[in-house]
Amino acid sequence: MTGFTTLTQTQLDRWVAEARAISHTGRIPDYIPRLAEVNRDRIAVQVQAPNERCFSAGDSTHRFALMSVIKPFVLLFLLKQLGQQSVFRYVGKRPSDQVFHSLAQLTEDGGFPRNPMINSGAIALADLLPGKDGSDRCEALRHWLNHSSGASLTLDEAMLASVRSVGNETNRAIAQLLKQSGYLTSIETALDTYNHICCLSGTAIDLAQLGLLLASEQSMADDQRTVNALMLTCGLYEASGEFAVRVGVPTKSGVSGALLAVIPKHGAIACYSPPLDDTGNSVAGLWLLEQLVRSLNLSLFG
Ligand code: GLN
Repeated sequence: MTGFTTLTQTQLDRWVAEARAISHTGRIPDYIPRLAEVNRDRIAVQVQAPNERCFSAGDSTHRFALMSVIKPFVLLFLLKQLGQQSVFRYVGKRPSDQVFHSLAQLTEDGGFPRNPMINSGAIALADLLPGKDGSDRCEALRHWLNHSSGASLTLDEAMLASVRSVGNETNRAIAQLLKQSGYLTSIETALDTYNHICCLSGTAIDLAQLGLLLASEQSMADDQRTVNALMLTCGLYEASGEFAVRVGVPTKSGVSGALLAVIPKHGAIACYSPPLDDTGNSVAGLWLLEQLVRSLNLSLFG
């Protein structure tokens, strides 16, 4: 039987306790000061489907910055606003084989970003969002997401200040190359927008609500299918292929330790646990997801 119906709260609580111990093998990123200060033992998971009982375990009311987990939703928003043709003039659909902030990958590809799930692609898409500056554009995205999903995302101002304080030179170099190659109009606006949207924050419950935007059987099927396919092939960066074989559901990670999996036409699973593996994916999040998907038979591939 497929679905969340065979899950029990006791089982989920047990997995969360085990996942917390496993998370200790991961590392907390230190390139954004405020991310380096988080409580590494904090953990949350939310399992949600529209017509089924939902499950929460761990600290499901704790708010965290979504970081790269926002990327699929920037893509979804722009696909709805501009359509597939316009969007994919500025970003590709190919998996990357280098780190998520790789300038080398972008250089190798002549300045055309491989996909929307890595920094280059998301910075190019941030440039396409409607609005005069980063704050305006982030607000437009935030409103649309909250309105469409019922989530309560807010901008984490302290995280944004922290991101700005380090002035991420790699992202700036990426934006410069995008501009030189004709895939970006304004370096400053694109980076400011990108920094803002990465600092949108919410709880694991909010994140699962967002996930349902990609899981429901509603009218935007074409756009959802596109976003889900790119999450499956690119959402965990260079680890995406291996994870697709091992687990087999569209998944997106963020450097904050956020992780979202979509079970198409069914529901969503959101996790949060800050320690990351070498690729930049939450160690406990991936482990929890694997337990859930396997034991509940949720893989797309049966
Ligand atoms: N703001 C982060 C960065 O650009 C987001 C990256 C991530 O979550 N992987 O470094």
